[in-house]
Amino acid sequence: MIKVLIAEDNAVNRELLRELLEGRGYTVLEACDGQEALRMIEEAQPELLLMDIGMPVLDGFAVIRRIREDPRLAPLPVVAVTAYAMRGDREKILKSGFDGYLSKPLNPSSLTEELDRLLIKSRPLADPDQISPDQINEDRPGSKARSTSATGGT
Ligand code: MN
Repeated sequence: MIKVLIAEDNAVNRELLRELLEGRGYTVLEACDGQEALRMIEEAQPELLLMDIGMPVLDGFAVIRRIREDPRLAPLPVVAVTAYAMRGDREKILKSGFDGYLSKPLNPSSLTEELDRLLIKSRPLADPDQISPDQINEDRPGSKARSTSATGGT
C-alpha cells in the first residue's frame, strides 16, 4: 500500500482529502501542524506528502525548507494544497521546493493527476496503464477455456 501523509490544520479539509485518497486505494496518515508532519515523515516514511501552507507551529514553507535541507528526507515528493490564489503564488510555491501545487477548493481530478504524475515518477512499477492478464482474458471470452476442457475430456 502506498502511504500518503496529509499535513493540514483544518479538520474538514483533512477529512475530504482522506476520503479522496482512500477511495483511490492509498493508505492515509494525518498531521495537524508542520512539526507533527516532520515527525511523521521520519517515523512512517510516506511515499508522498500533501501539505497545507498555513499551519500552526511550522507553516508549509518552513516544513518544505527542512525537508529539502535534510538528505534523508529530500527525495520525498511534496504537493502544496492551499487556498492561495493570487498571481505569482504558484511560482513562489514551486520555487520553495514543492513538486506540485493544488488549489482549494480541491478539484478531485487534479488531485488524481498529481498523485499519478509524482508516484509514477518515483515508482515505475506502479504504472496504472499496464494491462493486467485478467483484463486480457476478459477481452477474449470463452474459446480458450472451452478448448482446454475439451482436451481434458479426451
Ligand atoms: Mn491551514
